[in-house]
Amino acid sequence: MSARTQAVLEQVFGYRRFRDRQGEIIDWIAEGGDALVLMPTGGGKSLCYQIPALVRPGTAVVISPLIALMEDQVSALRQQGVEAAALHSGLDPDQRRAVDQALRAGSLDLLYVAPERLLNSDLLERLSRHPIALFAIDEAHCVSQWGHDFRPEYLQLHVLGERFPNVPKVALTATADARTRTEIAGRLLPDTAKTFISSFDRPNLRYYVGLKQRPREQLLRFIQARHAQASGIVYCMSRRATEQIADWLNTRGVPALAYHAGLEASVRQHHQERFLREDGLVMVATIAFGMGIDKPDVRFVAHLDLPKSLESYYQETGRAGRDGLPADAWMVYGLQDIYRVRQMSAAANTTDERKRDEHRRLEALLGFCEASGCRRPPLLAHFDEDHAGGCGNCDNCLEPPSTRDATDAARRVLSCVYRTGQRFGAGHVVDVLLGHGTERVRQLGHDRLSTWSIGTDLNRSHWQSIIRQLLAHGMLAPDPDGHGGLRLTESCRPLLRGEATIQLREDRVRPALSPRRTITGGSPWQGDPDSWAALRAERRRLAEEAGVPPYVIFHDATLAAMLEARPATLAEMASVPGVGATKLERYGEAFLAALAALPSTAGD
Ligand code: ADP
Ligand code: ZN
Repeated sequence: MSARTQAVLEQVFGYRRFRDRQGEIIDWIAEGGDALVLMPTGGGKSLCYQIPALVRPGTAVVISPLIALMEDQVSALRQQGVEAAALHSGLDPDQRRAVDQALRAGSLDLLYVAPERLLNSDLLERLSRHPIALFAIDEAHCVSQWGHDFRPEYLQLHVLGERFPNVPKVALTATADARTRTEIAGRLLPDTAKTFISSFDRPNLRYYVGLKQRPREQLLRFIQARHAQASGIVYCMSRRATEQIADWLNTRGVPALAYHAGLEASVRQHHQERFLREDGLVMVATIAFGMGIDKPDVRFVAHLDLPKSLESYYQETGRAGRDGLPADAWMVYGLQDIYRVRQMSAAANTTDERKRDEHRRLEALLGFCEASGCRRPPLLAHFDEDHAGGCGNCDNCLEPPSTRDATDAARRVLSCVYRTGQRFGAGHVVDVLLGHGTERVRQLGHDRLSTWSIGTDLNRSHWQSIIRQLLAHGMLAPDPDGHGGLRLTESCRPLLRGEATIQLREDRVRPALSPRRTITGGSPWQGDPDSWAALRAERRRLAEEAGVPPYVIFHDATLAAMLEARPATLAEMASVPGVGATKLERYGEAFLAALAALPSTAGD
């Protein structure tokens, strides 16, 4: 590790050690190498180009797809005493002129710019007259035409290679399966680029997947038990649901806002702003919310509907716990959700390569949801990563679900589906199994079938659970006419013929989120809550004064470290992780005073 990069890490960013492969990546780029950097959300990608930007002569140009993201990074860097600026369509002419001037004067360490701005103006021309430290292409998966974040402008970024052959280029992303990786490297980087892949595991995230019964109440119980006063994101599928659930949470004392693409831009902007700046708000959102949300202290991400794919799930849950402190990924789903996914999967099952891919993705999602072992192997397999399981930080590890032989019950379901003509949904099939003589059952004469009333030993939710799992395992499938009927598939034959058995898991409604480590008030500080509140109040005051979100002043982890270390001098304060030179100068005294005013802990 070069002494120079280590010194920047300590002095500017206030951190003592590089994480994972950061040091290696930074040295490679600082010495002029090109790189593809794959790291999970929260892994610390930004430092990989920010430190080389400071070490190398000239301005580093960072290409980023979202204004909010750029602004966030720029204000965080400025707080650290780094000369950073952004060029985007949101600037007024005066602001733009100021940035141009700084660029001309050569005083900028980092310039953030949107791809269209870089390509469709004379900016490239102007940049070619300056020393450029490097080009960093953030969210590089936007270059992939297969992905859901495709941005056509990214394809044109290959001109950077032609016009600036000697300037190092770094492409960074948290989203990339093997194919996307090849695409990124091929389109944006020279052949000599080195690929750095970090583990995609997020050990601080605790996964929990449960059965959806009364989703709103389940959500509320989860928030109250684990996350009172914490920031979180709740994902729902429909716009209407986001508003209803946000309203409902508010009436139950959980401050919540809605966010979806149908809201007016100004309302969306306002809600996003509040979420970033206030402590303890819950955002109830469609997937329109998320990309570019860099808030480090989101303590939970909850799904009230199944995400589109395991990849989306990983991205969405990845927004929790970016600061590395414990956070929860919580989800509930039910029979209806699996049915819907299966229907989509059936519609997608064609010869088209892309659709086959879609199909594989859905299978992966269902496999994850229905897993009875550790959640991490099926999740990480998606990134071609092996995980041995037994992580100790997922619902199935904390409280292994019981599985039982369900061969006989499964056979009864299958034959009931068959006898009723493979046209009916779960509700009707269960009515027949339970011997519920509804009007429909009588009209159809289903009370005279051999499968009538053969399932009175189990209750309705048991049968629904079995049907859901058979759907997930692909032994039942949605009727192709789309009217909600179930039919048998080829793969249930061995079971029906008595040549195979099947194990199914017991459903769980209550979270297996062990109380061993309760996250209260979104606080990583387990000591005296008043001290914690006092430091947060001081941080809020300074944030309002500076017009930035509180986490830009100091992260929760840094506040907790201060309470732990109780520095009494500026020199002691400087050694608290997260306190760099500029922040020490700006905020050191204020926090020393706040610490000194706390009730003494001497004697305990
Ligand atoms: P990414 O862009 O990969 O999602 P970031 O670059 O935003 O992640 O980093 C995530 C968090 O980790 C940030 O709060 C950052 O300050 C912190 N971080 C990064 N590198 C280190 C390090 N070496 N030591 C301590 N904290 C770090
Ligand atoms: Zn596990």
